[in-house]
Amino acid sequence: MDVYRNLIGGDLVPAADGRTLDSVNPATGEVWARVPASGRADAEAAVAAARAAFPRWSALPALARGQALRRVARVFAEHAEELARIETTDNGRILRDTLHKDLPGMTVLWELAAGQVLDAVRGDTVILGPDTLGLTRREPYGVVVGVIPWNSPISTFSAKAAHALAAGNTVIVKPAEQASASVLRLGELLADVLPPGVLNIVGGLGEEVGEALVRHRDVAKISLTGSTETGRAITRASADALKPLTFELGGKSPNIVFADADLDAATEGVTVNSIYTGNAGQVCVAGSRILIQRPIWEEMLARIGAAAAGITLADPLDPRTTMGPIVSAGQYERVRSYLELAAKEGTDLVFGGRTGADVVPALPGGYWVEPTLYATTDNSLRVCQEEIFGPVAVALPFDTEEEALAIANDSPYGLAAGLWTRDLGRAHRFVRDLQAGNVWVNTFRQMPPGLPFGGVKDSGYGHDSVLSYTREKTAILNTRS
Ligand code: NAD
Repeated sequence: MDVYRNLIGGDLVPAADGRTLDSVNPATGEVWARVPASGRADAEAAVAAARAAFPRWSALPALARGQALRRVARVFAEHAEELARIETTDNGRILRDTLHKDLPGMTVLWELAAGQVLDAVRGDTVILGPDTLGLTRREPYGVVVGVIPWNSPISTFSAKAAHALAAGNTVIVKPAEQASASVLRLGELLADVLPPGVLNIVGGLGEEVGEALVRHRDVAKISLTGSTETGRAITRASADALKPLTFELGGKSPNIVFADADLDAATEGVTVNSIYTGNAGQVCVAGSRILIQRPIWEEMLARIGAAAAGITLADPLDPRTTMGPIVSAGQYERVRSYLELAAKEGTDLVFGGRTGADVVPALPGGYWVEPTLYATTDNSLRVCQEEIFGPVAVALPFDTEEEALAIANDSPYGLAAGLWTRDLGRAHRFVRDLQAGNVWVNTFRQMPPGLPFGGVKDSGYGHDSVLSYTREKTAILNTRS
């Protein structure tokens, strides 16, 4: 049994009161690790450590901070295999993705952040008059808290920590209780790489240590990647102190296929790279509503069904596996409740719908849901409006551009949207009119480091970047006296 500890002030420590949480391997349903169940005392200790480390870290020349971040990037490269295996064991995200996509991407992300340290200290000079000079300075906030979800712990950890540290903040990361082992292991690997207290990691429940951190008076900024409900809870908890917030929240993204599209590419784009493989639909940008133009409706349903039939559900550590399990018993029950709801709401089952040992008999304790597609003409159904966060999509037909746009935008969420067409004018119209933070045309789920990634409406606001972890100060100097 692997036992992980918090990283606080450079020390690897258990929760102050010794409590732990079980971490379950979702492919087997078995407990494989224990993580700290931190509470208020641990939150206090982490904030004190981050606060103590802030003056020196923020005063360090920016290029020296960049050097430190490059050392972190090397840790990702040197321990890629180990970290990928831990994350795959912990949350079921297939090794193909953790090892071959996420970890190489993290090395790039940390190196890119290291190269952006000067952006965090770059200001404007404005000559306001012969003896009057205007200056702007960018400054770090101080102690930053990053709250992250379970579906991509290493990626979301990096998006927050790398940028916040590059800007001169000190950081506390709170990984999700369902899957925090990879981030806690990173804490072990980074304990001697960064000065004590500059990066702190505390595991535990959102309503305990998470709440204690976001309420803490010495926390200057919070960045959450998680559900819309948690975004609302953090807004309420931090309202009195008017803390600046960045929210990357849920989604119900439309993937829109026009009859003129390259249908081979579109089929791959709406199935393999969108809702089913990778993380079994447990991605914030999952294209969970597939809008199909009527002339190709039957053909696309058949194509999507054939592509889904080619997906291999099995042990996520096996490199041949193309789809893994649902992360936890709780999330598994939630996804299953939506399968029941889809039937109650009168949708047509196109394929899928089986769960558990029927799907992967070799691993009967795992939380398996097979790729599932429903069809309906009613976008107001709950299965079309609510985020399911599993390998469950709904297909909706449309005739015209206007109708497709109306269905796409008829959602409380606005994280991402995909468009499949060869018509350049239409592509530009949809890029302009889709209410989403990210629009992909003839591609899907591309989130290269260095480009903004955020949402609109209930999907949140802001995004993680070096500049987002700085605030600006203006100075006016009268140089005559
Ligand atoms: P969640 O909101 O339940 O939990 C996210 C994190 O918030 C966890 O660390 C949790 O412990 C913490 N938390 C919960 N309540 C808290 C509170 N009151 N105070 C402080 N912290 C609290 O989300 P989840 O189930 O872990 O992740 C799935 C959700 O995340 C989905 O909605 C998904 O769309 C979203 N997500 C969004 C993005 C994005 O970039 N937009 C990326 C990945 C996941």
